[in-house]
Amino acid sequence: MKIKNINGTSQTTCACGSWLKHWEKFSGQSTNYCQAIGCTKKDLVGAHVQKSDSSDNKWYIYPLCNAHNQHTGVLEVSDSYKLVSANKKETCVNKNSVANLSPTFGDLASGASVAQG
Ligand SMILES: [Zn+2]
Ligand SMILES: [Zn+2]
Repeated sequence: MKIKNINGTSQTTCACGSWLKHWEKFSGQSTNYCQAIGCTKKDLVGAHVQKSDSSDNKWYIYPLCNAHNQHTGVLEVSDSYKLVSANKKETCVNKNSVANLSPTFGDLASGASVAQG
């Protein structure tokens, strides 16, 4: 697929620690090297990219090396790896409370005591 780099992103990292971690977490994938076609560099970052052959203007994260993260213009990358949304509201921000799956109200009162037996 074809992507283009978003340059000049000064977005600080998210709760995941780094954008590369963010990509691994939400793609369920991992890689040891840059996924630009023909590149095998290992100094990976989670690059902010957009789809180039689509009207989709959303921001995504994709694993690229430092050099390709500076690349301008269209970049051909592997189809085997997913684009992960860079929108924190769609990813890490909303998924903090894994333990709280049921929407019960009123449980937030005082410290809950765990019944044994
Ligand atoms: Zn994140
Ligand atoms: Zn590269």
